Amino acid sequence: MTAKLTEKPSKMPCPQCNKPSAEAFKPFCSKRCADVDLGKWLNESYALPSQEPLDEEAIEQMIQAQEIVTKE
Ligand SMILES: [Zn+2]
Repeated sequence: MTAKLTEKPSKMPCPQCNKPSAEAFKPFCSKRCADVDLGKWLNESYALPSQEPLDEEAIEQMIQAQEIVTKE
């Protein structure tokens, strides 16, 4: 994950909706926005389970699956 370093994380607005970020979900304002960001770079069409964090292996598998699906 990347984060802008121009401001302290706790003062950063949510990258998704520009609301003030929440401590529990920073730099996002809510778990929903964090999930949206995660899903955006994984696969916009995937219905991600919003309750469980993805580990790196699962993310890699999803990216590989996406690459296969979208391969021309
Ligand atoms: Zn937000």
